[in-house]
Amino acid sequence: MRTSNFLIATQKETPADAEVISHQLMLRAGLIRKLAAGLYTWLPLGLRVLRKVENVVREEMDAAGAQEVSMPVVQPAELWQESGRWEQYGPELLRIQDRHQRDFCLGPTHEEVVTELVRNEIKSYKQLPLNLYQIQTKVRDEIRPRFGIMRSREFLMKDAYSFHVDQASLEATYQDMHQAYTHIFTRLGLDFRPVIADTGSIGGSASHEFHVLANSGEDDIAFSDSSDYAANVEMAEAIAPAGERPAPGADMAELATPGVRTIDDLAKFLSIDPATTVKTLIAHGEEGQLVALVLRGDHQLNTIKAEKLAAIASPLQLAEEAEVRKALGAGFGSLGPVGLDIEVIVDRSAAALADFTCGANRDEYHLTGVNWERDCTPGSIEDIRDVVEGDPSPDGHGKLLIKRGIEVGHIFQLGCKYSEAMKASVLDENGKSVTMTMGCYGIGVSRVVAAAIEQNHDDKGIIWPPAMAPFQLAMVPLNMQKSEAVASCAEELYQQLKSAGIDVLLDDRNERPGVKFADMELTGIPHRIVIGDRALAEGNIEYKGRRDADSRLVPREEIVTFLR
Ligand code: ATP
Ligand code: MG
Ligand code: MG
Ligand code: MG
Repeated sequence: MRTSNFLIATQKETPADAEVISHQLMLRAGLIRKLAAGLYTWLPLGLRVLRKVENVVREEMDAAGAQEVSMPVVQPAELWQESGRWEQYGPELLRIQDRHQRDFCLGPTHEEVVTELVRNEIKSYKQLPLNLYQIQTKVRDEIRPRFGIMRSREFLMKDAYSFHVDQASLEATYQDMHQAYTHIFTRLGLDFRPVIADTGSIGGSASHEFHVLANSGEDDIAFSDSSDYAANVEMAEAIAPAGERPAPGADMAELATPGVRTIDDLAKFLSIDPATTVKTLIAHGEEGQLVALVLRGDHQLNTIKAEKLAAIASPLQLAEEAEVRKALGAGFGSLGPVGLDIEVIVDRSAAALADFTCGANRDEYHLTGVNWERDCTPGSIEDIRDVVEGDPSPDGHGKLLIKRGIEVGHIFQLGCKYSEAMKASVLDENGKSVTMTMGCYGIGVSRVVAAAIEQNHDDKGIIWPPAMAPFQLAMVPLNMQKSEAVASCAEELYQQLKSAGIDVLLDDRNERPGVKFADMELTGIPHRIVIGDRALAEGNIEYKGRRDADSRLVPREEIVTFLR
């Protein structure tokens, strides 16, 4: 490719509204452009990267025996009513009507559609297991789209769905997918951790998230320094004795469900006894405000606070954070010191207080007070670190470390949740009808691009892991318009490199060398050669790797072999 024939849309200035480095660099390098909140256009350079990621994902899914399909983005409401999610899903589900006033939604995920497909197509256990996947646009009306394509409202997901005659078969495919994900993220050159995840409101027996470690991540990952143990911090809290922590599934979304409206509801939901030591109150705000406060213990202070809070929050009405703070008085601002007796739960997905983490009810694992301030920057994990880091890993091997993670993949043993509700069954080997067992497996293909940049950049710009680079090699001829020697060498070399299968971008623009160098560095192309009169006179080409401090000379005759 030649830059004269390729849209290079780089920008010098750091865009004001881009908070994280990946968002800034994706705009500056000309990978994406914003259309509206959470909606982005992929420019040619960005799309090349996205396609690279997509292809790695596709190759590994195919290799693991999954088959590619493509399902519609627009989905009929009836299917979602059948599964029960039309009611449950909430405002993240973008609902539309057609010209006949029939209800549809834009798919945030495709369990219903794929279950509809499979219940019609598959009749016998002999056709199972079956694993279908697609790489396709998803729509989620995120309450707070941010960080560019990292949390957007329209994004590219690889979603796979497997169908089985029994749990054992599901577990085998689940392991295959776990393995395939490990291959994918390894090939993409990412520093990642598979993490035990809370199965939350979806239920099911097992779930892993794949997290790319980065300070801008929205999840906190606790992992052992000397074993494979890794858990989402919510899960790490499970080490606290049962009954003293929110039950698995005490998920923020659930707390906001219609089922939880009173103190007793909440206590029941959290498996705690409201009558004894616990006072439970809920203050529920719209966007990132407090969702729940659980106050416990015999401390006079907390009883008083509980009562004060009750005055404004009871019976479980909306309460602004500012109101809560005011009512609680000075002590509340310093939540940390009294944190051992207070648990604060904030809607993280909706969070204006984005990085707040809910606490566990055991001293060492209490994470309250983290990033309480509104103006906190993502990545300030020191507060949590003080609390958990250095503790023994629950698997008995090594000590816990905590880092921020970006969720790039999520695999799930769904069981029969959808197949039961939607009556998807097959005949087993005895001719008996059995409900199919399901798994689902997602990768945020577009989010991976941003996550890679979070991990791989310097002050000059992006440094792509080779597997997702838009081009492998940038060719920068100096003074090409004037020097015949440079122009002919560049042309000849360009053809040779292309024939050698190297993905090369020839910067043939009539621009100053400084401009070209800056652009090639900003866009993160892993290798660069410079063709200039001076080196050429001695038969040399200048080479520099994107991470190298200095360039070096390589003889013209050896350069193709050198680069290959
Ligand atoms: P998150 O916790 O970040 O909201 P999720 O758990 O809701 O993600 P899943 O339903 O597990 O997401 O979807 C599979 C994958 O899709 C996620 O692991 C993530 O990589 C990606 N993803 C989810 N929501 C978004 C989004 N709004 N923008 C970009 N990628 C997303
Ligand atoms: Mg989400
Ligand atoms: Mg998640
Ligand atoms: Mg998830």
